[in-house]
Amino acid sequence: PAERSLNFIEQLVEEDLANGKNAGRVHTRFPPEPNGYLHIGHAKSICLNFGLADKYGGKTNLRFDDTNPVTEDTEYVDSIKADVRWLGFEWENEFYASDYFDQLYDFAEKLIQKGLAYVDDSTAEEIAAQKGTPTEPGKESPYRSRSVEENLDLFRRMKAGEFADGAKVLRAKIDMAAPNMHFRDPIMYRIKHAHHHRTGDKWCIYPMYDFAHGQSDSIEQITHSLCTLEFEVHRPLYDWYIQQLEIFPSRQIEFARLNLTYTVMSKRKLLQLVNEGHVRGWDDPRMPTIAGIRRRGFTPASIREFADRIGIAKRDNLIDVGLLEFCIREELNRTTARVMAVVDEKPIRVVLTNYPEGQVEEVSIENNPEDPGSGHRNVPFSREVYIEQDDFMENPPKKYFRLSPGGMVRLKGAYIIKCEEVIKDNAGELIELRCTYIPESRSGSDTSGINVKGTIHWVSVAHAVEAEVRLYDRLLTVEDPSAEEGDFKNFINPNSLEIVRAYVEPTLKSAQTGDRFQFIRKGYFCIDPDSTEEKLVFNRTVTLKDTWAK
Ligand code: ATP
Ligand code: MG
Ligand code: MG
Repeated sequence: PAERSLNFIEQLVEEDLANGKNAGRVHTRFPPEPNGYLHIGHAKSICLNFGLADKYGGKTNLRFDDTNPVTEDTEYVDSIKADVRWLGFEWENEFYASDYFDQLYDFAEKLIQKGLAYVDDSTAEEIAAQKGTPTEPGKESPYRSRSVEENLDLFRRMKAGEFADGAKVLRAKIDMAAPNMHFRDPIMYRIKHAHHHRTGDKWCIYPMYDFAHGQSDSIEQITHSLCTLEFEVHRPLYDWYIQQLEIFPSRQIEFARLNLTYTVMSKRKLLQLVNEGHVRGWDDPRMPTIAGIRRRGFTPASIREFADRIGIAKRDNLIDVGLLEFCIREELNRTTARVMAVVDEKPIRVVLTNYPEGQVEEVSIENNPEDPGSGHRNVPFSREVYIEQDDFMENPPKKYFRLSPGGMVRLKGAYIIKCEEVIKDNAGELIELRCTYIPESRSGSDTSGINVKGTIHWVSVAHAVEAEVRLYDRLLTVEDPSAEEGDFKNFINPNSLEIVRAYVEPTLKSAQTGDRFQFIRKGYFCIDPDSTEEKLVFNRTVTLKDTWAK
């Protein structure tokens, strides 16, 4: 990767290192909540956390932030681990915030002992009303002055399951007039009689994010805890808990979350797309999930490259999804074989009337002109070939270099042909072109002296392999869904998936799931896991055309 200047997080880390903080240690964590599949935004965070540790000889933990029993599931845990590994990273430790429930409970008792926490019987509405507004001080809860003994007793009974959901909460006792709303006696624990995917029914009280996250960081001795900007206002509370508990001072640093054009990213919205059948699943190639992007044909390197190019910002911004496409297109241009696929429900049959019937010859096609080591392969050529409808026009405009009546074109890697006759069925639909080929024009040994401007791809009819091709477009019709009023689902692109038949060259018959190709003149495609022995299924990863302005 190109040299670039330090981003602001690297600067902070280097400052810490220069000051001898943390004894020269850099330890980050990636803390997903296992309530959905990871998306490209998480990929940014993963690349940032693991990349930072790599750069400074440090370590990164994978920590499942599983403090909310209701939405979490082991299916998600497994997919998250697979996705992080696929991106090319290996964690130092696999931890679960739920492993710290005993420790967090003890921390809570410690704050009660210090007179810094109290059990509150107020309802959720009452607590919200007590908080007041940012411009006016809040009101203290009537339960705020409970004694340490009473608080300890009530909190222990909360833990023992004596109270119903919502009957009581544990709150930090800080300052109901603080300008930062998060300081107005934030909730630390709530009662939830719910089964947890790891701790089962052991607990019926669960810590809030703010009480769990910083302490988890501290327990793991995380040096730099990177999170998205919306947590900036939580940072004073993060620091306050750590100070009052007198535990290892992890440092929270915020960066801008990734937003992509034409894309929704929140797991809640992605879940709706899946559950309501707008897509075929979490790994639908239209989804911005890592699983979807992978199935679409993206490589881990292209995603890391993307993360590197967008860099780290302190302000929220919207990134052109074209940049992501640019990154994979660049890589596939360097790495994929150019193959021929006639992507057309109704291709045109071209019959070469002067080519001997029954004869088959192999023509040699360069695998990848961008990669001199990639060699050539043989593709069978015969008397009848398919071409695409788009490569023929009966009444062409000027400067149309493809095939037209009386016109000539080169069949890629093979011969120049001339269109002699157009055959239509009774309904007037074009079914066949009668052409002649120029025997002296064979690619590589052309002595015909004929110059043609157009070269088109083709597939021998007798050797063509039928395939299904899935063409994807943006899932949403608007650039910035967050800027639109109303439900984002009003902006779902009804044409985001087009399934067409194709006839591909026989060399593709043995292709395996995940294999990637350039279909000459069409774009980059990969084999979808839906492929079977009988039927190949291709996903279009990205078109050839670069719409990203560099
Ligand atoms: P979502 O809103 O999609 O549910 P989340 O932040 O609730 O996201 P978590 O599982 O808690 O999801 O996220 C794990 C980590 O990934 C967090 O540190 C979070 O800040 C980071 N992250 C999540 N979304 C993005 C994003 N769009 N850009 C960068 N980082 C992100
Ligand atoms: Mg979260
Ligand atoms: Mg979330």
